[in-house]
Amino acid sequence: MSKIQSINPSTNQAIDELEASTPEDIKAKAKAAHAAKKAWRELGVAGRIELLRKVSAKFAENKERFAKLEAEEMGMPIKEALEDFDFGLDYLNSYLDTGEKHLKSVVTLENDDERHEVFKEPFGVVACIVPWNFPFANWVWQCGQNLIAGNTVVFKHSEETQLCGKLIEEIVNSVLPEGVFNEVYGDGSVGEQLVNQDVNLVCFTGSSATGIKIRQAVASRLLPTCLELGGSAPGIIFEDADIEEVAGTIFTARFMACGQMCDALKRLIVHEGKVDEVTAKLTNLIKEKKIGDASDSQTDFGPLVAERQLKLLEEQVADAVSKGAKVLIGGKKPEGLEGAYYEPTLLTNITNDMRVWQEEVFGPVLPIVTFTSEEEAIEKANDTKYGLGAYIFTADNERFIRVAHQLESGMVSQNTLSYINTCNPFTGYKMSGGGREHAQFGFDDVTQIKVIARAK
Ligand code: NAD
Repeated sequence: MSKIQSINPSTNQAIDELEASTPEDIKAKAKAAHAAKKAWRELGVAGRIELLRKVSAKFAENKERFAKLEAEEMGMPIKEALEDFDFGLDYLNSYLDTGEKHLKSVVTLENDDERHEVFKEPFGVVACIVPWNFPFANWVWQCGQNLIAGNTVVFKHSEETQLCGKLIEEIVNSVLPEGVFNEVYGDGSVGEQLVNQDVNLVCFTGSSATGIKIRQAVASRLLPTCLELGGSAPGIIFEDADIEEVAGTIFTARFMACGQMCDALKRLIVHEGKVDEVTAKLTNLIKEKKIGDASDSQTDFGPLVAERQLKLLEEQVADAVSKGAKVLIGGKKPEGLEGAYYEPTLLTNITNDMRVWQEEVFGPVLPIVTFTSEEEAIEKANDTKYGLGAYIFTADNERFIRVAHQLESGMVSQNTLSYINTCNPFTGYKMSGGGREHAQFGFDDVTQIKVIARAK
C-alpha cells in the first residue's frame, strides 16, 4: 500500500503520512455512495439542509484547528487561513439559506386540462476532485451545492493537503448518514481511477491540463462535467485610474495566497503614462510585507505549496529573463529561509513569447506590459488561452462597461470592487473551463432537469 507524505512547505519537513486509497477502496466508496443515494434524495431539500446546517456548525467549532493545519500543510499564512475559513463558511451558509429557493420546481404551463412542471433532480453519485490552494473553500465550493441538491459524493482532495481532507471527512461524517460523503486519498492516479468509477457527474477544480484529461476520460460515457480550471487574469490600468486608491487591490489580486489563486491578476497591462507610478507603488507595498513561516501570525507572505511549484516558477522566471525581461524587485528565493519560498516579484520588458505570459503563473510573480490605446489594452488582455477573471482600473464607468464586454473572461471587476460574491457564479471562458459555482447557476450545474406534463 503506498503512503502519501504531508510536507510543511515553510520548513520542508514531513508532518505526517496517510495511506493512499487502493483500487478496491475507491470502488467500495463509489458503491457506498450508490447505496446511500436513494435515502439522501428522499430526505428532500429541507431535510438535507437541516443536516448540513449541523455540518456548518461543526466546521465553525473547528475553525482554529483547520486554519492551523492549512498553514502547516499548505503554507497559507495563518491570518489568511483564518479569513479563508470564514470566506468558505459564508459560501456554505449562503447555499443553505438559498437552496430551497433555487431548487424549486417551475410550473411552465397550466390550464384547465394540463399542468407542466420542470423539476431539478440530483444526478446520483458525483466524483468531486479539488486542488490544494484553498483547502476548506475548495471543498465548500465543490461539495456544498452537490450535497444540498441531493447528490452523494466521492471526494478527493489534493495530495498536497491530505490532512485537511482527513479533517473535512471527520467533520462531515460525524453528521451525515453513512455513504453520503465518501473520501479517497492519493495523487492524480487515484483521481483518474475515481473518474473511471460508476459515477453520474464529475466536478473538477484544478489545472486546465488535468481538466482536458478528465473530459477525455469520460467522453465515451457522455458523462457531464463541471470544470473550474486555470486562469491568467489581465489587469488593465487606464490613464485615469487613481493609483493611490487601487494599488492595494492590485497587490492583493496578484499576491494573496502567495499568488496561488486561480483568478489572481496574473498579467498587468498599464497605460504607458502610469507605469512608473504603478511599479513604484507596488514595489513599496512589497517591501512592507514580511516573508516567513506560515504558522507565524506576523507573516504576510508564506511559502509556495511545495518545492515542485517553486521549481516551476523559477523555470518560468528564468525563461523570461533569458528572453530579455527585467526584474524590478524579487526574482529569487529569499535568503535564510529553508522552505519553498520565493520573493514577490515584478517583471517588465515582457514579450508574449515568454512562459510568464503564455502559461498560468501560480506564484508571486507579476509580468507588466504597457499600452497606449484602449484597443491595444483589450488585445493584450485577450492574448491568452485562459478566460477566468479580469480586472479593470478606470474612473470612467462608460469605458469600463465597453471594455468589460470585449474581454474574453467570465468575471470582470472595476477598481476596488470584487466580482466574488455569493450571489454571482464563479465561471470562466476558453480554457478556464466554463463550470459555474454558487447561487442559482451552481445549483443548475449539479442537477438534471425533468419535465413532467400531467393531465388534470
Ligand atoms: P492539478 O490539476 O494538478 O490537480 C488538481 C486535482 O486533480 C488534484 O486533486 C490532483 O490529484 C487531481 N488529478 C491530477 N491528475 C488527475 C487525473 N488525471 N484525473 C483526475 N484527477 C487528477 O492542479 P493543482 O496544481 O493541484 O492546482 C492548481 C490549479 O488549479 C491551477 O491551474 C488553478 O488555476 C486551478 N484552480 C482553479 C480554480 C477555479 O475555480 N477555476 C480554483 C482553484 C484552483
